[in-house]
Amino acid sequence: MERISHYIDGQIAAGSSGRSGPVYDPASGQETHRVDFAALEEVRSAVAAAQEAFPAWRATSLSRRADILFRVRETLDRHRGELAALVTAQHGKVLSDAMGEVARGLENVEFACGIPHLLKGAYSEQASTGIDVYAIRQPLGVVAGISPFNFPVMVPMWMFANAIACGNTFILKPSEKDPSASLRIAELLTEAGVPDGVFNVVHGDRVAVDAILADPDVKAVSFVGSTPVARSIHEAATRSGKRVQALAGAKNHMIVLPDADLDMAADAAVSAGFGSAGERCMAISVVVAVGAIGDRLVAAIKERMAKVQIGDGRDARSEMGPLVTREHRDRVASYLDSGRAQGATVVVDGREDPIVSRAGFFLGVSLIDHVTPAMDCYRDEIFGPVLSVVRTETYEEAIQLVNENPWGNGAAIFTRDGGAARQFQFDVEAGMVGINVPIPVPVGYYSFGGWKQSLFGDTHMYGPEGIHFYTRGKVVTSRWPDPATSTVDLGFPRTR
Ligand code: NAD
Repeated sequence: MERISHYIDGQIAAGSSGRSGPVYDPASGQETHRVDFAALEEVRSAVAAAQEAFPAWRATSLSRRADILFRVRETLDRHRGELAALVTAQHGKVLSDAMGEVARGLENVEFACGIPHLLKGAYSEQASTGIDVYAIRQPLGVVAGISPFNFPVMVPMWMFANAIACGNTFILKPSEKDPSASLRIAELLTEAGVPDGVFNVVHGDRVAVDAILADPDVKAVSFVGSTPVARSIHEAATRSGKRVQALAGAKNHMIVLPDADLDMAADAAVSAGFGSAGERCMAISVVVAVGAIGDRLVAAIKERMAKVQIGDGRDARSEMGPLVTREHRDRVASYLDSGRAQGATVVVDGREDPIVSRAGFFLGVSLIDHVTPAMDCYRDEIFGPVLSVVRTETYEEAIQLVNENPWGNGAAIFTRDGGAARQFQFDVEAGMVGINVPIPVPVGYYSFGGWKQSLFGDTHMYGPEGIHFYTRGKVVTSRWPDPATSTVDLGFPRTR
């Protein structure tokens, strides 16, 4: 069985803890690799390598760092197909979707190439007589990123591109379910000229995460994953004085107003509900049908669902692949039973799809209608190809539903009425809003983050807020005095 090991100080480092975990090909259900799980000592050695690399990397000029980032971009760009194939092999999403993930990840490297501009400070000449004041931002030191299974290339790029561009050194703890892409990225970064120790990967489970959180040399932690883990990581990191941003789970609603183009809304609901088998934190999981359109909208969605091509993702035909593990597939499917038992109508049961008889972790696309907020399929994040429909009489009821939901990652509205869309943008309690756009993931030069239980911490990820997160401010007040003007003055400094 092929083994996946850590990457420390510019080279692959075989695990020494004796612990490891299985990695599957979700399309075949076969275990293909074992991934080493780091113990405390291995995390320590990665942090030590990053700590040692920090002073020189921090002192590397902005133009040299930008030059290396351009090379990183070009190197990763040349290996897009290879990275996407690794994602498909271990996550299960279809190749075209994996290519999209790599492209969206690369946006963050492209943004970080502008680091000389992004790190410009502010300068006030003659703030007081003969005194200038200026603000600069400096890197934090060793920073860590802990990433989820569902974007094994893009989410690490959300984190490390800005982190290293700002002059930090980085430890990535990727998901243990699909760890190969991060290891390949590490090799490509070295090939592109990133100095040893600037980017390190430790694989593992909670033991590795706890070691990162306990390490006093790790100054900041970026996390993306489920809400309970995000909450506990935010608490632990805050307690130990680390800077932390923990992006969490989601339950994204798409409100369809009676005046919407129903075909467009149905296309969007199917695309955003079942793309990547629903394993996206920005997937639409609830369609809110407002007014009398409910039956027609459900019929239009059902008609499109019948045409979704499910397969192993390696061919050009398949549009949706398997789920990441057998346990996850079975948990997702259980919401079809609980929904039915709690009074919803299961319009399409993905377990009846012939694809389920294959060896991989497949589930067909599923639709549950007449869902209410009391049902488990509404209350829980399902994270699979199960779309729920809630019906409301009015816009006011619909927006109340969205705002009372504990999560607030993305939310979308479909309408032809500009005034209604503008009101939604004003009212909705979510960090990312789509107007006739079902998956409003911000482009790399904005920042990504939800509200409420979808984000713990106050800084969104990547884009300008990413630069802010990975640096700290320093304000310098400076005088090059004429000694003749020097006096003793015990009063509090004020401008003159
Ligand atoms: P997860 O929380 O199970 O795992 C995320 C990371 O935390 C992994 O690296 C994992 O090894 C580690 N981890 C797991 N349990 C841990 C524990 N008890 N203590 C410490 N570390 C632990 O999440 P996942 O299943 O990999 O990813 C899916 C989840 O991520 C969904 O809830 C999804 O909504 C969320 N997500 C959110 C965003 C966002 O931007 N808000 C983006 C992608 C995914």
